[in-house]
Amino acid sequence: MAKSAIGSSSRTKEIMRQYGLRAKKGFGQNFLTDQSILQNIVSAAEIGKDDNVIEIGPGIGALTEQLALAAGQVVGLEIDVDLLPVLKDVLEPYHNVKILHQDVLKADLPTLIQQEFDHPEAPIKVVANLPYYITSPILMGLLNSPVDWDCICVMMQREVADRLVAKVGTKQYGSLTLAIEMSMDAEMAFGVSRHSFVPEPNVDSAIVTLHRRRQPLPVAPFDCDKILSLIKICFAHRRKNLGNNLKALSGKDTDKKNAVLKVLDELRIDSRIRPEQLTLEKFIQLGNALHDHDLY
Ligand code: SAM
Repeated sequence: MAKSAIGSSSRTKEIMRQYGLRAKKGFGQNFLTDQSILQNIVSAAEIGKDDNVIEIGPGIGALTEQLALAAGQVVGLEIDVDLLPVLKDVLEPYHNVKILHQDVLKADLPTLIQQEFDHPEAPIKVVANLPYYITSPILMGLLNSPVDWDCICVMMQREVADRLVAKVGTKQYGSLTLAIEMSMDAEMAFGVSRHSFVPEPNVDSAIVTLHRRRQPLPVAPFDCDKILSLIKICFAHRRKNLGNNLKALSGKDTDKKNAVLKVLDELRIDSRIRPEQLTLEKFIQLGNALHDHDLY
């Protein structure tokens, strides 16, 4: 009899029983057991037969299986050594899948792509149900790597997804929103209930897709990393206004403090606004101007 999909609830339970598996909290293991969601993730990432896919954290292979059916080739990076024999068995029918024992945060992704894919020049996508305890470091690692990702389509907890796609002026808008906006267009694909996982996490989730910015940045930053550091300074105390947060640049130096306020004035930025009221364009203008005046 043909086996049901790995991500069906009955097969997941069977695999866990057969291999004596218990989900490890320390690795953020919550396995998806909803076939339609797995398929919707593959659709949201627009996976086709020409695509190379990197999956972060294949778990017991539920998403990997759906990716294997749709993609050219899939490379899964799994940190948990106990899952390797399981993945070897359950994914045995799929000859376009390789599983590597890897911590994604330590992986040299450009080299891995060259070594592991038969056609490394083909479009490269990242698809994952992320381990939630390291969502931000994984995203930042992907964005900072020199790889030209065709698409990053990832599941994360709903609250983090809301921050990624937040609009200026909202309480979710912050340094994570702006760090993503610096290089990507982020879109909310769909929400996922906590009941779709085994074991159930205590938060709901959502899928976000990231593509390289269609439009170039409206103003060129003098240094992207330094602009992002300035943004973090501006959001260090969300309840404080912008002028007060920027005092971190001048300390007790009154002349410097006044010079910073003068720059804000020249840019027509009211120092009394909250940081979440400033667009990325304005943050870049501010960083550039502070840099030009030797204030940052
Ligand atoms: N993809 C599976 C699914 O959707 O059912 C499992 C997703 S589970 C939320 C996260 C997976 O990431 C687990 O398999 C976990 O062991 C793995 N993981 C955790 N930290 C990792 C890391 N640093 N590098 C690679 N994989 C990691």
